[in-house]
Amino acid sequence: MLTIGCHLSASKGFLNMGKEAVSVGANTFQFFTRNPRGFKAKDLDTEDARKFVEFWEANSGGKIVAHAPYTLNACSADEKTRKLAHMIMSDDLARMEYVPGNYYNFHPGSHVKQGVEVGTGYIVSLLNSIIKPEQKTTVLLETMAGKGSEIGRSFEEIKAIIDRVECSAKLGVCMDSCHIFDGGYDIVNKLDEVLEEFDKVIGLDKLYAVHLNDSKNILGSHKDRHECIGQGNIGMDAITEFINHKAIRDLPIVLETPNDLDGYKKEIELLKSVYRE
Ligand code: FE
Ligand code: FE
Ligand code: ZN
Repeated sequence: MLTIGCHLSASKGFLNMGKEAVSVGANTFQFFTRNPRGFKAKDLDTEDARKFVEFWEANSGGKIVAHAPYTLNACSADEKTRKLAHMIMSDDLARMEYVPGNYYNFHPGSHVKQGVEVGTGYIVSLLNSIIKPEQKTTVLLETMAGKGSEIGRSFEEIKAIIDRVECSAKLGVCMDSCHIFDGGYDIVNKLDEVLEEFDKVIGLDKLYAVHLNDSKNILGSHKDRHECIGQGNIGMDAITEFINHKAIRDLPIVLETPNDLDGYKKEIELLKSVYRE
């Protein structure tokens, strides 16, 4: 069965997101854990979280994805910025325990002239200090387009992080279709090869979730501009093959396309119509 959903606003709480998801035909969704600018988060409403868990189970919802603020930089050269990432991510993970068994996705960060090796070291030490073996949430590293000095632009860079994290049972990968395409992985003409390469380098058992986006830019552009499904350079045919691929078809798939709720509803319908049950 297709597990498909979209990015939703968290401003009205968990239960509201669950209801919104159901209203657009989604059985998963993603949300930002807090305002990316200013990093403020409202106090967690534990009653809302409890009601959501109940509602979501009753509606056979799949795993959901919390997204860390994309303005965090876990591998900044500035110690204060790294400490802020640590503080926010450990607080987010503590909150996620109220909706247990789901995913927490983050961008590895930008090393900004320090080099991949130094940046990777910072990311690894952050993860080693915040991931606890008893936590119920799995942390996901997002595959990046390689804009500027972003770490995670290749499967090898993601693997280099995973390899050094002690509690790797609570660490996995979220594959963003726009990002890997912009990063140079040709999912239009060589989908099998790309996913085989992911398997060879990281292992498909580490792939837990997918961001499904078309791209405004061309293969290898390293740009990261999402386009609506079927309207970009990946295109409907490649997206159809992508969501039906055996490595992808059973994972939670989240849309981050430039859409309002109604647009998401239409894309979800479209994707369900091309999914081969
Ligand atoms: Fe992201
Ligand atoms: Fe993404
Ligand atoms: Zn993106």
